Amino acid sequence: MSISFETRRYVVFSILSLLGLLYATILLRGGLRQSSSSGTPILAELGSTIRRENATLVILARNSNLKGVISSMRNLESRFNHRYQYPWVFLNDEEFTNEFKGLVLLETNAPVHFGLIPKEQWVQPAWIDEGKAEESRHRLKEQNIIYGDSSSYRNMCRFNSGYFFHHPLLQQFKFYWRVEPDVKYFCDMSYDPFQYMIQSNQTYGFTITLLETPETVTTLWDSVKEFMTKYPQYIANDNALEFISSDGGKTYNMCHFWSNFEIADMDFWRSDAYQTFFEFLDAKGGFYYERWGDAPVHSIAAALFLPKHRLHFFQDIGYQHASYQHCPSSDESLGNSCSCHRWNTIGKFLYLCNP
Ligand code: GDP
Ligand code: MN
Repeated sequence: MSISFETRRYVVFSILSLLGLLYATILLRGGLRQSSSSGTPILAELGSTIRRENATLVILARNSNLKGVISSMRNLESRFNHRYQYPWVFLNDEEFTNEFKGLVLLETNAPVHFGLIPKEQWVQPAWIDEGKAEESRHRLKEQNIIYGDSSSYRNMCRFNSGYFFHHPLLQQFKFYWRVEPDVKYFCDMSYDPFQYMIQSNQTYGFTITLLETPETVTTLWDSVKEFMTKYPQYIANDNALEFISSDGGKTYNMCHFWSNFEIADMDFWRSDAYQTFFEFLDAKGGFYYERWGDAPVHSIAAALFLPKHRLHFFQDIGYQHASYQHCPSSDESLGNSCSCHRWNTIGKFLYLCNP
């Protein structure tokens, strides 16, 4: 059977029009729903039996992370959030495009907020000696340290250490679950981890502990010791010093909670203890003169300023970021059904710390 040229032209034209319409709808949806960042969140319908805590999911991302963002969202929505519909907050140092917003909105029925990070909370502060910062980027690059020569990575670490929880979009929330592009959650959640955190009086929850690259934190522990001497009132009695130091506080053992996954209480970061700590560290310039990460900074603070029973190891949440993962054993999974291989976790134990 032969199809005339006219018919084929008609079919191709119709398909292109439909695709155009679909794309325009996505862009329009993104543009319209953007208003939720400055106004009232669009509330999703909730089943009457589901209770939601004062909490949000939060992702820092660039527009170029769209594919990885969608992958993480789809995963967490299907494992957990389609039942609870916790809001999503997206933060970026540039405006999100309508394409980004439109496609993200297709992945959830929950309220979504898109926020811009104020420049002064992102860029390298003017008081940083750029010559010294450049020398650090050069040195770490020579040492083949990952992100060694990156200024934007340093901005990101400083923002996550000291500013994300001050963002206007996050003020209404107490707890957050940090999500990153391209992460995986292996288990169907049989309960709400936010509710668990609240009911069991927890402050900071993690799944993976790792060793930091020593070259990125050469003088961090010296600054921490100086801080502890100056502000002994902030150190908790029953703290977790032994997690971060194996010699009673003389040196840092490089252990940290891997902060690309965090379920935690932002009021801890907003507390006097942490605010004073961040400002003290920031003034040392180590975010730029070295490459201090938000993971060691958060971890050291949580280990020192909180009693250890307020740190929670989510052993039952299967999670993967880049080449590291935590896959719960059958004892650990607490009834959550998981799709991952335990040997993958055990094989990497050499790099892990004991929580
Ligand atoms: P890694 O996990 O340490 O390898 O670092 P990533 O590249 O994954 O960055 C950590 C988080 O910060 C991710 O959520 C990234 O999307 C985000 N991020 C990193 N750099 C930038 C940046 O320059 N701009 C924005 N908007 N997000 C960034
Ligand atoms: Mn990452």
